[in-house]
Amino acid sequence: MPANFLVYKVENLRKVNAQRRGLSQPELTTVPVLTKGQVGYVPEGAMEGEPATCYNCQFYNYDRSCQFLGERIPVKKLIWPLKATADAKPIQYWPCCSSWMRGEPNTGPQVCREPYVSADQLGLGWINAPRVGQEYGGACCSGKNGGDDCDSYISIGEDKRAESTAFCRVLQQEVEGGAVCTAWMDDDWMSFDRAQNILKDSNA
Ligand code: SF4
Ligand code: SF4
Repeated sequence: MPANFLVYKVENLRKVNAQRRGLSQPELTTVPVLTKGQVGYVPEGAMEGEPATCYNCQFYNYDRSCQFLGERIPVKKLIWPLKATADAKPIQYWPCCSSWMRGEPNTGPQVCREPYVSADQLGLGWINAPRVGQEYGGACCSGKNGGDDCDSYISIGEDKRAESTAFCRVLQQEVEGGAVCTAWMDDDWMSFDRAQNILKDSNA
């Protein structure tokens, strides 16, 4: 500590608290802008040309379950509806959550990390892919590489996937199309409960 450092004494606390009170006032005209660190931004260069999904997450028991949820809860891609009709085609959905961390899934005996957490805590849901049978489907900013786009990726052109970068509403800055973060969202993703019902039915 430098010799001239001013060490606060008890009588200084009222001033320090007054300063903190002023500095922590919300700004009246703006909403909070998050940083890349706060939303776990993963740059495109770290995504290896794939969208984020359980299938490339290190916490996944491959094609079976998430290590945070336990082996009794099935977490797998699914197709719905199963058959095409005159007015609808089958769509494939890929699971992913905000704790996604790129890596090799576990293909050996199932590993579970107790205590388990809830799907709500993970923010787990199922993400639709453009086509059935892709190598990977899941989440990324622009929806490139077979992914589904984020509602907060605001491109200038009409085709988000064609733009290598665009403005992110959450971070209030330009981001890469192939990147992802925990604030990814899409209005048409499938909820955990709905996906569980479909998985139960398809195993019946
Ligand atoms: S639910 Fe989340 S943490 Fe679990 S395997 Fe999937 S992406 Fe990874
Ligand atoms: S566009 Fe969406 S996924 Fe991409 S950084 Fe912004 S909030 Fe995250």
